[in-house]
Amino acid sequence: MSTSSRSNTGGEIPLIGPKRRLVQWLASLLILLIPFVRVGGDSLLRLDAASRTLLLFGARIRIEEFYLFLLATLIFVFGFLLVTMLFGRVWCGWFCPQTTVCDLADWLDARVARLPKPVAAAVRHGGYLLLSFLIGSNLVWYFIPPGEYVRRLASGELGMVAGITLVSMLLLVYLDLTLVRRGFCKTVCPYGRIQLLTTEAGTLTLEFDPERKDECIRCAACLRACPMGIDIRDGLKIECINCGRCLDACRLVMAKGKRPGLFHYTFGGSGGSPSALLNRKSILLAGVLVLLTVVLALGVTHRREATVKVQRSASAEVKRLSDGTIVNFYQVFLENRSTQAAAFSLEAAPVNGYRVELVGPVRELSLAPNENRKVDVAVKVAPAPPANMALEIRLMRDGKVIATSPLPLLVN
Ligand code: SF4
Ligand code: SF4
Repeated sequence: MSTSSRSNTGGEIPLIGPKRRLVQWLASLLILLIPFVRVGGDSLLRLDAASRTLLLFGARIRIEEFYLFLLATLIFVFGFLLVTMLFGRVWCGWFCPQTTVCDLADWLDARVARLPKPVAAAVRHGGYLLLSFLIGSNLVWYFIPPGEYVRRLASGELGMVAGITLVSMLLLVYLDLTLVRRGFCKTVCPYGRIQLLTTEAGTLTLEFDPERKDECIRCAACLRACPMGIDIRDGLKIECINCGRCLDACRLVMAKGKRPGLFHYTFGGSGGSPSALLNRKSILLAGVLVLLTVVLALGVTHRREATVKVQRSASAEVKRLSDGTIVNFYQVFLENRSTQAAAFSLEAAPVNGYRVELVGPVRELSLAPNENRKVDVAVKVAPAPPANMALEIRLMRDGKVIATSPLPLLVN
């Protein structure tokens, strides 16, 4: 893909557009293709609503561990704010799917403009609907794997929640393309408003060269190129998405007179400097980001590789044997949260003055990665313990305690 154009005089005109389009396509393809990528037989990234589990790079994060997910979300949000402080609305112009979809719709409109009106309208709206369906499906793929989605859709068994999500997204995108488009970025999108809080004296922005204002021939090419319909010659505007189209348009116009374009990217505008970004706000933001990242890293590295939970067995009563031994019955739930198969065993923690015995299939419990297992066990305690005695079950691996859980004890 060429990133420059040739001027009348034969010189190369460096253009931003091809680079921006490449980034836009790669970002959109990434969002589309992530649901197809599998790691260890599971989706790379998917929220499995049925089991309330987030599948993330081969790990299964259950609802009880959602603090990790929350931390990752906070890191994403704070990282986003920091990037906006440094590079302005570069996300909007270069990465945002809304911008890419609007660009595609603009491209389609231009292609069908010369067709007879009814044909153009049919092709246009057909294209919008197809795009909307693809985007709606893409959203559902982050909850239902694409293969299963196609099977369920074809057999009419998509399910109510997935069906409502698909239809709602399809309608939203279709209405967006038909009625709103860039109006969404100008008025509805909260990210544009957030930018008001994050813009600093050194934030990257597009600037109309203040020293060469007189060279402007008022051709309005920059205005026509701007998808947001703004005139940045008057100064930075909140609607500007840093897409660089005005810059390219002016470069092409000015190249005819062998002069450079009148716009350029700059940190902080004339008189500004990137060093202005080193202020209290950015340092605080970066500090919070580092802190959250450290907490997440600690959370992930100290994440238990397996868990054990205990529930009294509802179907069996407490037994008192003739020698006074008390027997309680439990259901023990094991989960191997690691990405490796492992063999576990269960033990009762010793209690001074008592013999605590675990009876049942408690040795060599092999669990595949992310596998759950329910084990029925009995716990014998002798001599007869007091009602408030604390018992504990231990999940062991290679002689080490991996996890523990209290055993609720009944004596009669
Ligand atoms: S002013 Fe320039 S960079 Fe900003 S949105 Fe318009 S064309 Fe894009
Ligand atoms: S494209 Fe350049 S020369 Fe034409 S109006 Fe805009 S700033 Fe002026």
